[in-house]
Amino acid sequence: MDTPTREDLLDRCVEFHGHLCLGQVLGVRLALKGTELIGTRSFKEMIIFIENDRCIADAIQIVTGTRIGRRSAKLINYGKMAATFLNTESGAAYRVNVRNVDPNAGHDKEAKRRTLHVSDIELLAWTKVAVFLKPEEFPGKPQRTVNCVRCGEKVFDGREVQDDKGPLCLSCAHGSYYETMEDGT
Ligand SMILES: [Zn+2]
Ligand SMILES: [Zn+2]
Repeated sequence: MDTPTREDLLDRCVEFHGHLCLGQVLGVRLALKGTELIGTRSFKEMIIFIENDRCIADAIQIVTGTRIGRRSAKLINYGKMAATFLNTESGAAYRVNVRNVDPNAGHDKEAKRRTLHVSDIELLAWTKVAVFLKPEEFPGKPQRTVNCVRCGEKVFDGREVQDDKGPLCLSCAHGSYYETMEDGT
């Protein structure tokens, strides 16, 4: 099987993401560097922690084959152009971030595509890191399910907090991003 070119990968990202943006280019570069550093291209041997929920998040998943819904990609939203790549077989992990982008790189299609070929050292910075993951963070069947003692809803994967009366979901424990407007059915 031929290794796809950077252009091939970018085309796949653009098709999925819906437009050609600098974020797709940067996502391709982050994904290629990260997987090179951890020494695997197999999505079954990696977990990627993506540090923003914008364009790069799509590109990194498309290039690597990891998926948030399969727990091989995780969104850790620091609002940063960075991702950490963990090899789940060897334990090796590297964080890669975008160091420096030419201010004109977003101007037009050609400028964006040129960024595909800027040297790694000019565009990116990377560092070896250690990642600590709880057993319930790994892909595979849920290790644990509890019912929230306040709302009664199921909570998977150890996302609950312990209260005197029993487990609480994060929403009941700390307040929620939504407010209930009428009685549900
Ligand atoms: Zn985009
Ligand atoms: Zn609850």
